[in-house]
Amino acid sequence: MINDSLGHEAGDAVIKAMAGRLVRLLPENWELGHFGGDESILRSPLRPEKSTVEEQLTELLSRVREPMHHAGRELFISVSAGVAVHPAAGESAEDLFRAADAALHAAKQGNRGGLRTFEPALSQLSFRRLTMESDLRKALSEGQLDNFYQPIVDSQHQTIVSGEALIRWDHPEFGLVSPAAFIPMAEETGLIAPLGEWVLRRGLADLVDLRRSTAIPDLRLSVNVSAQQVMQAGFTEMVHQALAENRLAPTALQIEITEEVFLQDLSTSRDTLESLHASGITLAVDDFGTGYSALSYFKRMPIDLLKIDKSFIHDMFLRDRDLQLVGAVVSLAHGLGMRVVAEGVETEEQRAHLQLIGCEYLQGFLLARPMRKDDLAPFLREQLQHE
Ligand code: C2E
Ligand code: MG
Ligand code: MG
Repeated sequence: MINDSLGHEAGDAVIKAMAGRLVRLLPENWELGHFGGDESILRSPLRPEKSTVEEQLTELLSRVREPMHHAGRELFISVSAGVAVHPAAGESAEDLFRAADAALHAAKQGNRGGLRTFEPALSQLSFRRLTMESDLRKALSEGQLDNFYQPIVDSQHQTIVSGEALIRWDHPEFGLVSPAAFIPMAEETGLIAPLGEWVLRRGLADLVDLRRSTAIPDLRLSVNVSAQQVMQAGFTEMVHQALAENRLAPTALQIEITEEVFLQDLSTSRDTLESLHASGITLAVDDFGTGYSALSYFKRMPIDLLKIDKSFIHDMFLRDRDLQLVGAVVSLAHGLGMRVVAEGVETEEQRAHLQLIGCEYLQGFLLARPMRKDDLAPFLREQLQHE
């Protein structure tokens, strides 16, 4: 962030200053080396207790984290550490470096004050992460990805209005991998852009097929789009091109974003959302209630739909607070001119209540599970006959 906003000179100065701090704070007999970029190696030559090392490092990290001054600005630095203890974490220097790296990666993701000591489970994790990343690249080119579709139903008329595309990865070794497991990795590695484009193009082509084979001409497609994609230059153009290639009007498409989009550069995200919305694409905020967004965004952003997160629906009849919350979200959305989708509807009791309080759309296992396109077509036809 410092490199990007203040320039590489500032980045270099911070790394130098940090090295100075580390030298000053280094426990006796420890050694310090620069590993590359913003990574340093600390070596304790003795064989202290594991708990002593963790204590010393925790103290060191907290002092290293003190704000820094550069060119008249106050800079806040975050620091994490991964610990590898010889010989438990490995015999050779190479193994120890690798173990420390796996522990560091875990420390960056966890909330343990930025410190993590290597344990064997971490090496499996980091190995899996590495192979998963290259596997995901292959999955894209070798056709291991597939879209499932979950119907979204109009709660008053019980008709299916759209299908949400939910990606599935059929991994040759691990079997079906949940998107919850690989979407974050795809975001971390930048693979989310080609992956998201794949989901959209596959989804639109399938929508054309489904409209034709089920005689539901106004069926729509809902796709999940990551914040990173929204922020990417050319995203709107890509969407319109994909629509045009399938001869679909923008009204055929609904885009689900998460509240994370509101944490990005607001002028860029707003421009993108406004242009998508102006063309007729429906915009939905997914997993509403789990993020950090301030309600003020809904005054400024062109959002049509709120999708209440399934955790609230799940707890609706378990905790009165959740029941109240769901009701409040529905009124709030309506007050701001938005419609509401309830996710994760699993019981008849939930369905009846949501319908009663005026929630427009329902989605969940009670109505239908996510399914392959080839199963969705007969499902849709059968639903039509019941009308
Ligand atoms: P989401 O967009 O909130 O999708 C709803 C998730 O809830 C889906 O899980 C769906 O299978 C599950 N679900 C639906 N009804 C029920 C129910 O009644 N009970 C329960 N317990 N669960 C229900 P899935 O398919 O595992 O997807 C998880 C998440 O992965 C999605 O959450 C979405 O955030 C992300 N995702 C999936 N496909 C894509 C994609 O193409 N692009 C991006 N960026 N994210 C995706
Ligand atoms: Mg979604
Ligand atoms: Mg959701």
